[in-house]
Amino acid sequence: MTEHNSQIVTRFAPSPTGFMHIGNLRTALYSWLLAKSQGGRFILRIEDTDQERLVPGAVDVIMDTLKITGLDYDEGPGVGGAHGPYVQSERKEIYREYAEQLVAAGHAYYCFCTPERLQSLHDADGIGGYDRHCRDLSADEVARRLAAGEPHVIRQKIPLTGETSYYDEVFGEITLANSDMQDQILLKADGFPTYNFAHVVDDHLMGVTHVVRGSEYLTSTPKYALLYDAFGWERPHYVHLPLLMGRGEDGKVSKLSKRHGAVSFQDLLAAGYLPQAVLYYIALLGWCPKDNNQEIFTLEELTKSFSVDAISKSPSIFDYDKLNWFNSEYIKALSPAEFAERALPLLKETCPAYVAYDKLAALLHTRVNTFAEIPGMVDFIAARLPFDAALYTNKKNKTTPELCAQILAAVRPQLTDALWQNDALFALLKDYAAASGIKAGAVMWAVRVAVARKGVTPGGATELLEVLGREESLARIDQALQELAE
Ligand code: GLU
Repeated sequence: MTEHNSQIVTRFAPSPTGFMHIGNLRTALYSWLLAKSQGGRFILRIEDTDQERLVPGAVDVIMDTLKITGLDYDEGPGVGGAHGPYVQSERKEIYREYAEQLVAAGHAYYCFCTPERLQSLHDADGIGGYDRHCRDLSADEVARRLAAGEPHVIRQKIPLTGETSYYDEVFGEITLANSDMQDQILLKADGFPTYNFAHVVDDHLMGVTHVVRGSEYLTSTPKYALLYDAFGWERPHYVHLPLLMGRGEDGKVSKLSKRHGAVSFQDLLAAGYLPQAVLYYIALLGWCPKDNNQEIFTLEELTKSFSVDAISKSPSIFDYDKLNWFNSEYIKALSPAEFAERALPLLKETCPAYVAYDKLAALLHTRVNTFAEIPGMVDFIAARLPFDAALYTNKKNKTTPELCAQILAAVRPQLTDALWQNDALFALLKDYAAASGIKAGAVMWAVRVAVARKGVTPGGATELLEVLGREESLARIDQALQELAE
């Protein structure tokens, strides 16, 4: 074997649907990891032979996703390669040639059945298979009807007896009775191949050694294996990935779908998740590093620990709480500058110009799960919230509205000319507490709720003073004093 022949080649072969379901992204990731962990090549192929389902811009969504997540491909649209084109609609002519080759060898046949006839084979529920009506037409009849230009498809001639097995690297031996398989369509009346046929031809022509995809293809793969056999081609290795499930509000687990939450990569980014958090979280949905405690922060680390034998066959549950935790960890791991770069545009958009944006960003850095939470967390900075007398009563710090009014009235003059900086302000309030005999917690509480007008805030009293600036802080304290007096 030449070195090239022994190299692992994997591919990601999405249909351009217009969004990247996270199950598909996981397939891309595992396929990429399998190739890269073994020094192999990774191909992107676009499966767009279903012309009725084309979505404009859908290929860009796929390419953008791979770019953002760092899953670069060695061959594919945009980068080219020795096995192009990599978009199936541009390969239309190739498939007919191979389908006719199968007909000539007796592994496929022309079928002239009309849509009406096929429809009549289905029961009321639409269930029912093809009855192999055209399987044994004479060569003369076929030639005559082809010459007359009758619309036709090409179907696979599945053996009527026996069974077909293949070995899946995750699920083990899979066997299906040939009598349970349909004579599936390989080439449609419009001349386009079906997925069932096109992907087999392409995987072979592109030298794919390992097919990585979702387990929904587990039971149709015997048919594909038969196609390889019919051509006399070597079958690839198969790696089917476990199902992705979601947990509903009622606790019931079902196939992951929109009712569980955002399920596309784009929607997750829009919801404020970091691309790496999504990627590394889904890496663990169906696979587990052998060293369980290892924290993974780069594709390189992931590539080093990846192996197919650690892929699980049990369904994995996509857990949004866990993703939140992951995301907060990845946010914490950002440098202050990286965090600020993402948070500042949001803060500038939501908060007025007097706010010390960089200080606010620093307060938020360790406290957010997702960027989408930020507007809700800074609502009290963006605008003064309505007066809420109940906030001034706090059990733990033993405050009452009266005590708060007393504290605010006492510290207000001292703040007028104070050095406007967190440590200095903190010392000022501490000193006042010590001098007055009031608990420091009570002093901080009074000041914090006076300026925030909210119970839960990112940051304590003096941090908020710093963020709001002297003028706004004093104005808010004055307002609070007036409201408390009324
Ligand atoms: N186009 C198929 C899909 O998006 C690809 C399946 C495969 O990887 O073979 O589901």
